[in-house]
Amino acid sequence: MPYSSPRKAKIVCTLGPSSSSAERIAELIRAGMDVARLNFSHGTHDFHRGLVASIREAAMAAGKTVAIMQDLQGPKIRLGKIPAPGVILEKGQKVCLHPEGAAPKSLQPGENPLPIMAEIAAAVAADVRPGARILFDDGKVATRAMSVEGPEIHVVVEVGGKLTSNKGMNLPGTPLSIPCLTDKDREDLKFGVEQKVDAIALSFVRSAADIEELKDILRDLTAEPPMVVAKIEREEAVAQMDSIIEVTDGVLVARGDMAVEVGAERVPPIQKQLIKSCNELGVPVITATQMLESMISCPTPTRAEASDVANAVFDGTDCVMLSGETASGEYPVEAVQTMARIIEETERNRAFSTPREILPMPGSIVESIEFSASRIANHVGAVAIACLTHSGTAAKTLAKFRPERPIVAIMDNERQLRRLAFVWGVQGVIIPKIVATDDLFAMVETTLLENRLAENDDYVVVTAGVPTLRRGTTNMVKVHKLGAQSERSPRKPS
Ligand code: PEP
Repeated sequence: MPYSSPRKAKIVCTLGPSSSSAERIAELIRAGMDVARLNFSHGTHDFHRGLVASIREAAMAAGKTVAIMQDLQGPKIRLGKIPAPGVILEKGQKVCLHPEGAAPKSLQPGENPLPIMAEIAAAVAADVRPGARILFDDGKVATRAMSVEGPEIHVVVEVGGKLTSNKGMNLPGTPLSIPCLTDKDREDLKFGVEQKVDAIALSFVRSAADIEELKDILRDLTAEPPMVVAKIEREEAVAQMDSIIEVTDGVLVARGDMAVEVGAERVPPIQKQLIKSCNELGVPVITATQMLESMISCPTPTRAEASDVANAVFDGTDCVMLSGETASGEYPVEAVQTMARIIEETERNRAFSTPREILPMPGSIVESIEFSASRIANHVGAVAIACLTHSGTAAKTLAKFRPERPIVAIMDNERQLRRLAFVWGVQGVIIPKIVATDDLFAMVETTLLENRLAENDDYVVVTAGVPTLRRGTTNMVKVHKLGAQSERSPRKPS
C-alpha cells in the first residue's frame, strides 16, 4: 500500500549528521520527506553512498517515492585555515587577502593577512575592482576592496567581527568569471551519476549557458540524465531568471546566499517572481533556507517561520526545503512534521492563495487535455484525476493548472516517477506495464482501488495518450465511474 499524502506542496530535507542513520531516514520519510537533498559542500563520497542506500531502502519499506537531489558545492569562495580561536577584525582595520599556503607578497605594514582558498584566489582577484564589497560569514563581516596586486586583495573592514576557518566569502555586485563547475563538482557529478541520483542542483548559476553546459556534461556521462535544478542566488541569475527557467528542469530559491548577494530586503519579491515565473512555465520550484531555522535548537517554530512556510505555499511553490533543521538540528523529525502540518493547514485555506489563472499554451494538445481534465474534475466532483503517463509529462502538465482534485500519476517507470516527487500535488503509483488496450480503464480502476485512492461508484477523470501512450501523446480525457460499465452522467438531473 503506497503512502498517500493529502498534502500538495512537497518537502525537501537536507540530510546530514542529525539524519544519517537508517532509522532516522525512515522517520523523516514517515513524517513527510518527499525529496532528500545531499549537500556536497559537506561529507565524503562514502558518507553520501551510505545515505543513498539508506534512503532507497527506507523508501521501499515505506512504499513511498522519495527522490534524491545532489546539491553541488559550486564555486563557493571560502577563507582558508585560520588558527583557533579565529581572528577578530575591527572597523577600519586593513587586511590583505592572499592565496592560502603562500606568504603574502604585498602585505603592507599594519595589515592583517587573511588566507583564502588557493585554487580560486587569483581568478577572484582578477575580477575585483577597487570599491567592491567583500563580505564574510554570510555578510556578518563586511569589507571594501582598496587595491588588487596579483592574486592578493587589499581591503578595509567596514563592519567588524570574528572570523574562523573556512567561512564563506561573497562579492555582491562583482560579476565573477570563475565557472560554475569546479574540479570538485565534476568529480562529485560523476559520483552522483553513478549513484543514479534523480536531480543535480547547480550552485551559483550565472546564466542559462551554465545549465546548458551541465546538461551537455550529463548527456556525455549517462543515457538517463538526472533533472537539473538551478540554484538562484546571484545577482546575474536574478537578472536572467527568465532565460534560466526556460532551460532548467527545476529552480531552487537559494535565499541564504541570495540575501548576502542582493540584500535581504530584495529576497521576498525575488522569491515571489521566481515562483510566479516557474508556475507559468510548469517548472518545479523549491523555496529554501531558514524556513524553520529556530527548530535547529527548539522543538517549535517561531510565528514568523510558520508564516514564511505558509506564504511560500500560498504563492504556489512546489516544494519547501529544510536545511540545517534536518541536517544538523536537534529536532529533525519534528521539523518535518511541523512543516507538513503548516502546509496542510495552508492548503485547507487556499482561498488566500495568490490568484493566478494559468491557461494552456495555444496549440498544445497535452496542455488542453490536462487543463480540461482539471476543470471537468471539479464540475463532476471526481475524487481524483488519473494520468496514465510513461514520462510523467502529463502529470506535470496537469499540476501546472493547480487542480483542486488529487493528481494520481499511473506510471511504469520508477525513475521518471521519482522526478514527480518535486511536483506540486502529484502522487505517483507504479504499475508493471502500461498497455494501450481496451483494458485501459480496467487497469486504472484496479490501480486506484488497490491503492485506496478511490472507491467503487466514485468518478475519476482519466487522461491518456491513445493508442500509443508514448511521451507527449496525451490526447484523451474521460470521466469514468469506478466499478460500473455505465457511461451515465455523473450528476443526477435536477
Ligand atoms: C542557499 O544559499 O540558500 C542554499 C540553499 O545554498 P547552500 O545551502 O548550498 O549554501
